[in-house]
Amino acid sequence: MTDSTEFTPGDPRKPWLWHPELPIQYPPVLVWPPRPIAFLGWLFGRGVLFSQYMLFVGLAAIAWYFTPAFERMASFEAGWIAEIWLRNAVLFTVVTGGLHLWFHTFRGQGDRRKYDPKPLDTHNPKFLFGNQLWDNVFWCLASGVTVVTAYEVLIWWAWANGYVGLFTWDDGPVWFVALFFVLTFIQSAHFYFVHRLLHWKPLYRFHDLHHNNVNIGPWSGIAMHPVEHIIYLSSMILHLVIATHPLHMLYQSFFLTIGASTGHTGYENVDVKGRNVMNVGNLFHQLHHRYYNCNYGQMQVPLDKWFGSFHDGTAEATTRIMKQNLRMKAGKPSVS
Ligand SMILES: [Zn+2]
Ligand SMILES: [Zn+2]
Repeated sequence: MTDSTEFTPGDPRKPWLWHPELPIQYPPVLVWPPRPIAFLGWLFGRGVLFSQYMLFVGLAAIAWYFTPAFERMASFEAGWIAEIWLRNAVLFTVVTGGLHLWFHTFRGQGDRRKYDPKPLDTHNPKFLFGNQLWDNVFWCLASGVTVVTAYEVLIWWAWANGYVGLFTWDDGPVWFVALFFVLTFIQSAHFYFVHRLLHWKPLYRFHDLHHNNVNIGPWSGIAMHPVEHIIYLSSMILHLVIATHPLHMLYQSFFLTIGASTGHTGYENVDVKGRNVMNVGNLFHQLHHRYYNCNYGQMQVPLDKWFGSFHDGTAEATTRIMKQNLRMKAGKPSVS
C-alpha cells in the first residue's frame, strides 16, 4: 500500500501523478461490519462538517436570499425565471471558474495532488471550438444551468401555488437536518442507476459528449448533452413528491451542479502552501473517465461494490475492467 506514486508511461502500476492510498475505501457509512468510531470521525471531520457539503449549504443560503418573492413565482413569467437563471449562472461560474483558475490557469498548487499528468486538450476536433475548456463552458452554461433552472422553476411554482407542502425548521429540526443526508444518499443512488442507463447503447450517444473528457477539469463536471442533463438532474423531482424546504432544494441543486465541478477538478484537494483547505476531487470518478465501465456511482452509496463494477484504483482492478471492456466490445456478457 502506498499513498503516492510517480507517473511512468506504459507502467500499469504507475498510471497517475498522484493517488490516495489504495485500494480506495468507501466512507464508513453504508459498510459492513459497522465502524461507529470511524463514522463519527467522518461525520464531524472532513467527511461532512469540514467538507464541500457545507459549501453547498452556504451557497443554498446565498441563492435563497437572491430568490424572487413567492408571489411573483405563482405564475410562469420570463422576468423571475431569468433572475433565477442568472443567479445560478453567476454562482456556478464563480465557483467552477475559480477552481479552473486556481488549478489549471494559474496552477496555484502545481501538480500537487493531481491525478492525471496530461493538461486539458486545446487542439482537439472532438470538442466544440476544438478546445476542451470552451466546449465544457458552453455545455455547462447553455444547457446545464438552464436545465437545473427549469427544474428549480417548476418546484418554486409548485410551492408558490401550494401544490406541494413545505417543511420548515419549526416542523421538526431533526428531520430538517436529516433531510440533507437523505437527499444526498437518494441522489447518489439515483446517479448510479441513471448513469448505468446512460451507458446502455441506445442512450450512450447522449452520454458520449461527457466522455469526450478523458482527462477532466472543473468545467467538465456538467459538460453534458441536454438529454443527459434532463436525466441526470431528474432527482430534483423529489421536491415535488416530498415536503422539503428551499434550502434543501437549493442544496441539492448545487450538489448536482457545482458538486460535479469539484468532483472533476482532476485534483484530490485544494492545497494552499501545503495545507489541505478542502477535499474536492475523487479518484473514484476519474477512474470512470479513464476506464469507462466501472465506478458508475458516487462514494456515498457503495452500489458499484454491490453490483461488481467497483474499480478500487489498484492495477489488479484495472486488468479486470480492461478484460471486461474487451469482452463487451466483442459482444460477450461481462463477468465481474
Ligand atoms: Zn464525469
Ligand atoms: Zn459514464
